Amino acid sequence: MSPPLLVSACLVGFRCRYDGKDKLDLNVLRRLEGHSWLVVCPEQRAGLSTPRDPIMFEGGTGRDIQEGRARIVRVDGTDVTEELIEASRSIIRMAKLYGVRTGILKERSPSCGVRRTYRGDDLVEGMGIFAAMLQREGVEIFSEETLGLWKAGHYL
Ligand code: SF4
Repeated sequence: MSPPLLVSACLVGFRCRYDGKDKLDLNVLRRLEGHSWLVVCPEQRAGLSTPRDPIMFEGGTGRDIQEGRARIVRVDGTDVTEELIEASRSIIRMAKLYGVRTGILKERSPSCGVRRTYRGDDLVEGMGIFAAMLQREGVEIFSEETLGLWKAGHYL
């Protein structure tokens, strides 16, 4: 049996976004058909409420946080970097136990973004903190916008 695919909870219909809504994506659901999934929301895991103030990068993106060159703050300026790092570590530990090799994460999120994310009000190139930490562990990551790059069965 192949390992489960890891997926951002909002992409499969959980109302866990900062605005209390989901981002259900039918293409993602189709891609998950026939597989087991591990559904995760790093921001809820970090203890942030739902709904909640939006968060954003200051000074860099996900990979910069790992090097100590950036942080993630709420709109009121509260630093939530450590909470998100710890939540990401916790999810990654669980993912390793299940042998996860592939993830589908929500594009543009400061936590899950794969190619783009928010620094202040600006959409910039770069990964969210959870996506960057997961990729560093060798997990192959797609977003709902890059599913076309997925080769059938390549992760089995
Ligand atoms: S993008 Fe990630 S952190 Fe944000 S709501 Fe979706 S699963 Fe949670």
